[in-house]
Formats: sequence, structure tokens, C-alpha cells
Amino acid sequence: MAPRLETKTDFDGDVYDAVIVGSGFAGMYMLHKFNGLGLRSVVLEEASDVGGTWYWNRYPGARCDVESMEYSYSFSEELQQEWEWSYRYSTQPEILQYAGHVADRFSLRKHIRFNSRVKSAKYDEGASTWSIRTVDGDIYRGKYCIMATGTLSSVNTPKFEGLSDFQGEWYVTGRWPHEGVDFKNKNVGIIGTGSSAVQSIPVIAEDAASLTVFQRTANYSIPAHNRPLESEEVLKIKQNYSDIRARAKKNRAGIAGMEVGTEKAMDVDEEVRKSEYQRRWENEGTGFTAAYIDIGTDLMANETAASFVKEKIKEVVKDPIKAELLSPTNTIGCKRLCIDTNYFETYNNDHVHIVDVNKTPIKGLTRNGIETTEREYNFDIVVFAIGFDAMTGALLSIDIRGKDDVSLKEKWSEGPRTYLGLASEGFPNMFTITGPGSPSVLSNMMTSIEQHVDWISGFVSHIEDRDKTTVEANKDDEDSWMDHVAEVADGTLRYSCNSWYVGANIPGKKRIFLPYAGGLPQYSDICDKVADEGYSGFTIS
Ligand code: NAP
Repeated sequence: MAPRLETKTDFDGDVYDAVIVGSGFAGMYMLHKFNGLGLRSVVLEEASDVGGTWYWNRYPGARCDVESMEYSYSFSEELQQEWEWSYRYSTQPEILQYAGHVADRFSLRKHIRFNSRVKSAKYDEGASTWSIRTVDGDIYRGKYCIMATGTLSSVNTPKFEGLSDFQGEWYVTGRWPHEGVDFKNKNVGIIGTGSSAVQSIPVIAEDAASLTVFQRTANYSIPAHNRPLESEEVLKIKQNYSDIRARAKKNRAGIAGMEVGTEKAMDVDEEVRKSEYQRRWENEGTGFTAAYIDIGTDLMANETAASFVKEKIKEVVKDPIKAELLSPTNTIGCKRLCIDTNYFETYNNDHVHIVDVNKTPIKGLTRNGIETTEREYNFDIVVFAIGFDAMTGALLSIDIRGKDDVSLKEKWSEGPRTYLGLASEGFPNMFTITGPGSPSVLSNMMTSIEQHVDWISGFVSHIEDRDKTTVEANKDDEDSWMDHVAEVADGTLRYSCNSWYVGANIPGKKRIFLPYAGGLPQYSDICDKVADEGYSGFTIS
């Protein structure tokens, strides 16, 4: 497609081709693609720099849990050849540095309005454009509105009784201060045992005088075996990058290095099974549950993997009371599997304690610390590692209004309704990157982001080439897609626990499995078929 407009960089208040919300990895790549199409875009970003989740999540120990050589963009051969990752799983500062490098390398910053939190987005039917308003009252109008708002970006803000009475310092992992926090010789309490806590607990424990973990649900975690990357392995990967990226697209989780088993767990001997789990325990990270094809669908198969990990926890954690508390009772993989560096080992320190908040619930915070139904704990610092309003939280924090002034919040009051996780009926010319109903958080986010951005830009080219003004998902096709998303999730063990995948961590949130569990390759094939059919399921006018 020939470039339609010269890319301008000023913010002159007239109508852009596209307004993109968010400058994380999704928003940056979308901007780059639209620049390549000659579309005039602006990105609105709440933070003062690019990076999205990696801008905000600066808590100690924050790292990616997909290997960095794969948790990176594939769209530019030059970029993937020139960038050097230092660790198998890189630190948050390094990932943020990478995001900054991408922004500079592709001259993206001049199109991004930083410190611009979006308050509302309203579709004007007469003009077929979106008006996006920031909290400061600035208005940006665009033919297309692209929500690149992230899936785990809206933090679950602590609502504990008495929080304002607490005289110490308190922090939320997902909104960590840029200057860092000094835990040296401090008595610290942390609430939560999800991925953020699993990563931060061992690092905080190194400095703190004492660390008390308030646990509601014990979590499965697999050793990360993190290490610096060797130059020979990096070279080998770089020489084979195109093959690796192609294989990632064929893996259900978008990870080429994930070794996917082909047998059912109960079809192999116990000894063989154990040695397979052992091999994966020593190498695999999140690929641990890919050992057998039915771990995610069959309770008995699941229990073989779960009990292997529980045995490991008992071997590692010397205090049998702590070990028992740390042993999960859920199915494995129902909540997102964590990978860690010394998580369970950290509990062998005498200054690290664990409190079961099921037995002794938290009543609230006091002047001095945290009060449970049993006693008061005194802390200098309290850390809330209590997660996110996942997948829908960031979108619904914006007052999005489509045709007939219907709000997305109203439309999604019984749970999100999308076609392919990309669009929602009644909200023309709006696309969501890695939205609910797409593989998204069940996959390597970079692979899924690229798949969505490529698909959206293909669709936008299609519309522009035909001089069309509006595109909208059809209700029937959206309904069928949502039925399919629910049906696929029903066939798994994903509903068997209270995870953020089903919105159970947010009081009042409708219990619905949010991402698409059919796997990335199957999903991409469906998206490609839709495109090949001239974007079936959408009305283009
Ligand atoms: P999370 O998995 O939702 O964990 C939140 C924790 O806080 C859970 O243990 C939860 O208990 C607990 N909690 C919440 N409210 C509580 C309350 N009122 N009282 C007591 N405990 C409470 O959140 P997260 O650890 O931030 O991780 C979220 C997701 O972000 C991860 O699953 C992952 O996808 C992503 N993430 C990725 C990385 C990485 O790639 N390296 C790192 C961090 C996060 P329950 O389990 O009982 O609800």
C-alpha cells in the first residue's frame, strides 16, 4: 500500500489516522507499523516513558519469565541481531532499557505524548472518528482508536481497613517507586504469593531484618535456573532466529523453546514420568506443565505433576510446618505457574516467616503494622503484591463510549464481549491488542502482540485501500466467538481455582475465563482465515 500521508509529529489538534493508547510493547509496535503505512498516529501514555508494565513494575527481583531471547520483538532482523541480552531471564531494568532502545531506534518518542493519562474515548458516529480525552482535558481525534493498554497494568489497589493509619512505609509491587526502597535492617510484611511476590521475596529477604509473608493461596513455582547467557549460545540463536521465531508461532504458548510432550501422563510408567518431571524441574521453567498433553485437562494427570512439585517443596523447605503451608492445594497450572530464584529456599532463613491468612485472616492495618485475628505484627514497611485487575481493568478504567453512547463498561457488565479479542460490536474502528478472548496472557506476550499488531495493520491497510470509513464486529460473530472461548476453557481445569484468569481476585468481578485457551497457532489460523475471507465477521462500510 502506498503511504497515504506524510508522517507528521506535531500535536496540532486535527484528526489523526490513529490514536493509540499505551506505549508498552504493544503500543510501540503498533505505532511503528502505522508509521510504515504512512498513517499519522499519536500515542497517549500515562507514564513519563515507554515500557508499559516494565515501566511500572520495578519491584526487587522483577524479571521476565519467558526467556529474553524469545521475550523480544522479531519484526526487525537488525534489532534482534544488534540487541544483547545479558541473562536467560533479564531484569526489569534491562527490559526497560530495551524498550527505550526500540523507541529511539525507530524514532517513536516524537509521536508519543507522555504523562497523558486517558480518561475517556468517545465514538462520533457522524464523523466516524474517536475523541480521546486525557485527564488534563486534552482531546485527540482519530479515525482508529487502538487500545494497547496492557493486560496486567491496572493494579489491584490495597483496600485494607486502617491503611491510612499505618505509620510505616507501604508500597504496591505494580507501582514501585523509581528511586527504589531500602529494606536494610527493616521489619517487612508482604501480602501475596503470586509471581510478583515469588520474585521479590528472596531479594527483599536478603536485606530485611525480618520478612513476614501473608499467604492466602500457596503457589506452584519451578526453579528458573537463571544465568548469564554465553556468547556462543547467543550467536547460535541469532544465526537461527528466523527458524526460532517461526517455531514460536507454531507453539501454543508462542515459545519456540518450550518442549511440548505428545503423550498422556497416565500412559507412561511412573518412573518414566518422574524422570521427565525431574528433567524439566532442572531445565524448563514454565514449560514444566507441557510435559504431558493432559496436565491441563485431566485431574489425575494434573496430580502427577502437582505431587512432584509438592515433594520438591518438602525437600527444599526444612521446617515441616512452613513446608506444609507452602504446599499448594490447587491443581497445577490453574493459576499462572511461577518460576523463581530461591523462592522456597528463602523460607529456610529464620528471619523469614509465613502467616496463613485463611487460618488467621487479616483484619487490617494498624499504626504499627498488620493485625490478624490472632495478633498484631509490627512492620517498618508493608509490601502489597496483590496483583492486577487483569485483562479488562485498564480498558474499563477509561470511559469508552461507542455507538448510541453505550459504554463498554455497561456492555461488559456480565463479562467482556469481543470478536477474536480484537474488537467489540458497537465500538467501530476500535481495536484491542491482546484483549480478552485472545490467547494473550496464556502466551509469550511478545509473540501475541506481534500477531495482533500485524493483523490489525493488515486490516487497516485493507480498509484504507478501499477508502472505507467504518469497520465494526458483527454481533452474531462476536456471540459465536465468545461461545467458542467459553467452550474451549470448559475443557480445561482452568475454572478449578480462584485465579485472575477468571477475575476471581477482584471482588464483584464476573467469573469468566478471560483469555482464549485454544492456543496461539489455532487462534492465528482463525485470524488468518477471517482476513482471507475479506475480514468475515466484520461489517465494513
Ligand atoms: P497475582 O498472581 O494475582 O498474586 C496476587 C497475590 O496476592 C495472590 O497470592 C493473592 O492471593 C494475594 N492477595 C490478593 N488479595 C489479597 C488479600 N486481600 N489478602 C491476602 N492475599 C491477597 O498477582 P502478581 O503476583 O502480581 O502476578 C500477576 C501476574 O502478572 C502473574 O500471574 C504473571 O502473569 C504476571 N507477572 C509476570 C511476571 C514475570 O513475567 N516475571 C512477574 C510478575 C507478574 P490468592 O491467590 O488467594 O488470590
